[in-house]
This record gives sequence, structure tokens and C-alpha cells, in this order.
Amino acid sequence: METITSNAQDLERAIRTIITAIGENPDREGIVETPARITRMFKEIFRGYDESQKPKITTFTNEAHSSDMICDSGDFYSMCEHHMLPFFGQYHFAYIPSPTGKILGISKVARVVGYCAARLQLQERLGHDIVDMLSEALDGEALGFAIVLKGRHMCKTMRGVKNNGPMCTTYFTGKFKEDAQLRNEFLLLMNNQ
Ligand SMILES: [Zn+2]
Repeated sequence: METITSNAQDLERAIRTIITAIGENPDREGIVETPARITRMFKEIFRGYDESQKPKITTFTNEAHSSDMICDSGDFYSMCEHHMLPFFGQYHFAYIPSPTGKILGISKVARVVGYCAARLQLQERLGHDIVDMLSEALDGEALGFAIVLKGRHMCKTMRGVKNNGPMCTTYFTGKFKEDAQLRNEFLLLMNNQ
């Protein structure tokens, strides 16, 4: 498989081509290191293509045999696949563990969000990717997942319609899909954060 590490020279050349094509001088002092700098940055912001950087998801036995909702919130930063411009904002995540199964090490949710976001993405797909990876870590036994993403898209803000409102996407599975009361409880908690 091709990786940024094995293709670093091709990538640097391509960025130099872009700099030239937009009318800049790629040899200008302030810019001459930019292709190498972007190549290094891409290794980080597109690490989601590198299986070796996939986060290890710590899980624990659900010793309390709880089937109550567990929530986590935080930031995400990604790149839209249509314009290769950033989109970023807040995620709100919740799941219901299986009372006889496992629970997630909660800091791992943020790691999975970061990894799944480090690709060319659609906000709609990002929510699915995050839930799929966390569900797999719980052996598919969790009783339901909920995720809400609120993102600001630079392709909407700095070009085209030039409007700054956030885009909101949701994804609910299992109990969150079936039980409107549970879903409302989650949405209420989320809005108070
Ligand atoms: Zn876009």
C-alpha cells in the first residue's frame, strides 16, 4: 500500500506543482520549505490511512453490570473530501454497555475520533466510522450508540456561500434508535454541555 512516508518525494513535488500553478514562485525564500513542511503535516493529519497508527482500544469488564448511558464529548478536526479544506467542531458520544459485556476506557473515544477524522472525510461518514470502530472493540455487544457531530466547514465559510453556521449530523443505533425517551435524555445532556 502507498503511504505518505514512501511517497514523500512525490508529494513534495506535487505540492511544488500546485504552488507554481496558483501563480506563486516555489523558490521564494518564505515558501521554499513549504512542500516538505506540508508533507510532514500530512503524515499527521492523514494518519487515519495508516493501519499501524490505529489506536489500541482498552476495554474493561462491566463489573457493575450496568446498562446505563455513558457519555463523552470533545473536539474533532478533519478534512472534507470534496475540497480538502478543514471542518471541525464538537462531538457528543454515548453508548449503553451490555450488562454482561465490556465497557470502554473512556479516553479511547477521543483517540478513535481523532484517528477516524484523520482522513478525507464527510461529516456524515465520520460518525459511522467512529461508532463502527468502538462497537467492534466491544465485540458488537453494546446495546446502542449515539453520536452527534457539530462541525464548521471551511468550504462553506471561506468560499462559496460564505456562511458560518455549524452543520449537525447524528447517528443512532440499537436502543438509541428504538427508544425515543433515551434519545431525548442524551440530547438534553448534550445540549447542556
Ligand atoms: Zn467541502
